[in-house]
Amino acid sequence: MTESLAPQKPKPVPYKRIATEEAFAPAEMMAIYREMIEKKVVDDPGFNTMWGFYLGGTSERSRHIEACMSDLDDLRLRHMDEAGIDMQILALTAPGVQIMDRDTGTSFARFANDQLAAAVKRHPTRYAGLAAVAPQDPAAAAAEIQRAVTQLGLKGVIINSHTHGEYLSDTRFWPIFEAAEALDVPVYLHPNSPPRGMIGPMLECGLDGAIFGFGVETGMHALRIITSGVFDRFPKLQLILGHMGEALPFWLYRLEYMHKATVASQRYEAIKPLQRRIGDYMRENMLITCSGMAWEPAIKFTQSVVGADRVLYAMDYPYQYSLDEVNALDAMQMDDATKHAFFEGNARRVFKLG
Ligand code: CA
Repeated sequence: MTESLAPQKPKPVPYKRIATEEAFAPAEMMAIYREMIEKKVVDDPGFNTMWGFYLGGTSERSRHIEACMSDLDDLRLRHMDEAGIDMQILALTAPGVQIMDRDTGTSFARFANDQLAAAVKRHPTRYAGLAAVAPQDPAAAAAEIQRAVTQLGLKGVIINSHTHGEYLSDTRFWPIFEAAEALDVPVYLHPNSPPRGMIGPMLECGLDGAIFGFGVETGMHALRIITSGVFDRFPKLQLILGHMGEALPFWLYRLEYMHKATVASQRYEAIKPLQRRIGDYMRENMLITCSGMAWEPAIKFTQSVVGADRVLYAMDYPYQYSLDEVNALDAMQMDDATKHAFFEGNARRVFKLG
């Protein structure tokens, strides 16, 4: 938020700051959202309350978000320069095309990816992008990943968590993972508002959003991907989680202990033996960014769980835009090589930035 900006511009540092979970939304998408909300097209209370706030709100926060979201030129670059951000990895903001119907989502994903690729072409040293796809049509989504990576030069795939309450642990969505693995690009699993079946008790106390609900929903989605055997089927697939891994690193001991116990109990058809331990998948198939979590102890703990080569810097612009956070992360007590990997090196490797 602009009002939280500290006057202290981050100092020059011996690494590039590459922010890896940065949002954009074409103005055309916000127009579609506005119409969907006005006409009550979807029975999704999380979408209606969040985008109703951002698009209808008069608060400074909602005006800031709406203005920054669609800008891929002067305003965004000025904010990046003010915060010392050398490069943004851009992705279509949640829920992207996943809230739309199948055919609208499929065609709008292509439109958004073309617009993103054009912005990367205008500012090739400042941006790289992830491809949006509509899981509503898994075969078309796989084809769009192929097009976006090989023809548009995008560097991965953005999935804004559940799609109308469905999760990628369902094998019908696995053509998406198959395409990403074959092209050797990562899939960023970004939060969405919890679906209708999950959001009720969160909504009544105002905890459905980024404060808590997003992390719970997306952490569960990532766990479903692991326990359904996605990484046994696609062993080279790389999945990126934001927000310090949506708390999964902190849960790892209990996840492993209770997964083993649940498998042994044969209580659930969905919980079957896996080839590796849950921590192995986190260390070999997952990457974690610090979006919205500029907190040194959590970053170091996560580095200790998954390895310092798997933890990446992110800001979460424009939702969270704070020079104080950049300064705090620059000041982390961390050896030079590890800090370079965190801010720059890991992102260069993961997104093949050269
Ligand atoms: Ca975000």
